[in-house]
Amino acid sequence: MVAVIFTERCNGCGWCLDVCPHQIISLNENKKAEIYDADRCIECGACALQCPKDAILAHPLGCGCVSSVVRKKIRKVLHIPEKSTECC
Ligand code: SF4
Ligand code: SF4
Repeated sequence: MVAVIFTERCNGCGWCLDVCPHQIISLNENKKAEIYDADRCIECGACALQCPKDAILAHPLGCGCVSSVVRKKIRKVLHIPEKSTECC
């Protein structure tokens, strides 16, 4: 699932822009985050993890570019074993 941004929750902080590995998020004229090239979204979940307003829905466990440290913390919170096959 490509990340989805719920603009009504977005406060325009821009944090998601900074973490997107493909730099495909921008702020529109209303200072709301938008994904302008969804075909390049790799569903890493980094933007959703970074958003302070929970305004982004994306793969909750991430893959590829979300650091293993972050993944480890998420697994701990969600009580998912380290070698679980629930994540890629
Ligand atoms: S899920 Fe990853 S690639 Fe997709 S918009 Fe968010 S940070 Fe960028
Ligand atoms: S991190 Fe969240 S609140 Fe900040 S610009 Fe991105 S979507 Fe909006």
